[in-house]
Amino acid sequence: MGREIFIIGGGLAGWRAAEAAVRGGASVTLAANGPGNSPDIHALNCPVLPEDSVEKFIEDTMKSGRYQNDRALVETMCRESLSLKDEFDFDGTVIRPVGTSVPRCVSIRHAIGAIAVKGIKDRLKGRVTVERRTVSADDVLALRAADPAVKIIIATGGWCGKYDFSDNPSYLKGDGLVIARALGAAVRDVDEAHVQYEPTVRIEGPRRGIPVITTLLYEGARLLTPDGKEFLEDARLNKDELSRAILGIGGTAIYDLTAVPEEKIRECNMDPDERIIKVAPAPHSSMGGIVIDTRCHALDDGGRIVPGVFACGEVTAGIHGLNRLGGNGGTAAMVFGAIAGREAALEVKNEKES
Ligand SMILES: Cc1cc2nc3c(=O)[nH]c(=O)nc-3n(C[C@H](O)[C@H](O)[C@H](O)COP(=O)(O)OP(=O)(O)OC[C@H]3O[C@@H](n4cnc5c(N)ncnc54)[C@H](O)[C@@H]3O)c2cc1C
Repeated sequence: MGREIFIIGGGLAGWRAAEAAVRGGASVTLAANGPGNSPDIHALNCPVLPEDSVEKFIEDTMKSGRYQNDRALVETMCRESLSLKDEFDFDGTVIRPVGTSVPRCVSIRHAIGAIAVKGIKDRLKGRVTVERRTVSADDVLALRAADPAVKIIIATGGWCGKYDFSDNPSYLKGDGLVIARALGAAVRDVDEAHVQYEPTVRIEGPRRGIPVITTLLYEGARLLTPDGKEFLEDARLNKDELSRAILGIGGTAIYDLTAVPEEKIRECNMDPDERIIKVAPAPHSSMGGIVIDTRCHALDDGGRIVPGVFACGEVTAGIHGLNRLGGNGGTAAMVFGAIAGREAALEVKNEKES
C-alpha cells in the first residue's frame, strides 16, 4: 500500500481522519505510540434535545471559553456536530456538563470514545497501514524529504501528560507541537492559562489519577473540605472555577456521593460502594496548540496555509478558549478529525487530477 497521507496519532481525531481520508480515496498510514485519552471519553456534546440548538451550543462554548475562542472554529464544530446524530446510535442518555444551559452530553453506555474508535478500526480493517511507534520531528522531515507530496495530519493530542500528577498518560507531552514547528506551522496558547484542570481527580488508592465525573454534582453529590465542611454555595460551576475553589481551601477536597442515587453512580461505570472520595484538581486538557483554519489546514506565523500539513483534535488551538466545556473534547476530535481527513484526501485527489 502506498502512503499519500501520514497521520500521527491514534486517538479519536486520528482515526476519524483516517476514515474520512480512506473514504476520500487516499492511501493512509497511521502511526501512534498509544491509545491517547480518547478511550476515556464518556460522552460528547451534540444538540439532540428539542430545547437545544446550534446557536445555544455556540454561545455555551464561547461563554465557557471566556469568549477567547476562535469563533469560526466554534461555529464549525457546533454546526457539524449535528451530523453525529445520524452517525451514532446514542443510547438516550443526555447529561448536562457543568456550565451548559441545557443537557447536551450524549453517549453510548458512557464509553463513546472507546466504542467510536473500535467501530472505526473495525470498519477500516486492512485498509490503513498502522505503525506502533513514536514519531519525531526528524522522522517527519525525513518523510517529506523523501516524498514532498505526502500530506501530514498531526493528531497527537494534548500535553498534560508532562505533569507529575495528571489524569493523562505520560506519553501525551506535546510532541505534535514540535513536529508542527519543524514543518513551519504556528502554535499558540501553549501556557498554563490554557491548561484545564479536572477538579475532582482521585488522589489515593488503586485508582489514583482517575477523575470522578463532575456531572454527579447535578445528581446530589457534594464537595466538602478535607474535614467535611461545606465550602461552596453551589458547586455546579465551570471546571476552572471549581478547581480554583478547591485550590483556595488548600488543594484537596472530599467528593461526597452519599446522596447520589445508586443507578446514577452505576451509569457512570463507578462502584456504588465508593461514596467518599479524596480528590484534587489535576491537569486534564490542553487548550492551546497548532493554529488551524476551519478546514484543519495548519497555518504559519503569518496566517498562511502550510502546504500539505493538517491538524485536528486536542493538539490544536482556539476551539476552547480559556476553558473547555465538558463534552467538547470528544466533539472537537470527531468533527475536526473528519474534516482533516476529508480535506487532505481532497488535496491528494486534486493533485492527481491536475
Ligand atoms: C480521563 C479523561 C476523561 C475524559 N473524558 C472526556 C469526556 O467524557 N468527554 C469529552 O468530550 N472529553 C473528555 N476528555 C478529553 C478527551 O479525551 C480529549 O480531548 C480527546 O480524547 C482528544 O482526542 P485526540 O485524538 O486529539 O487525542 P488523544 O485521544 O489523546 O490521542 C493522541 C494520540 O497521539 C499519539 N501520539 C502522541 N504523540 C505521539 C508521537 N510522538 N508519535 C506517535 N504518536 C503520538 C498518542 O499515542 C495517541 O494515539 C477526557 C480526558 C481525560 C484525560
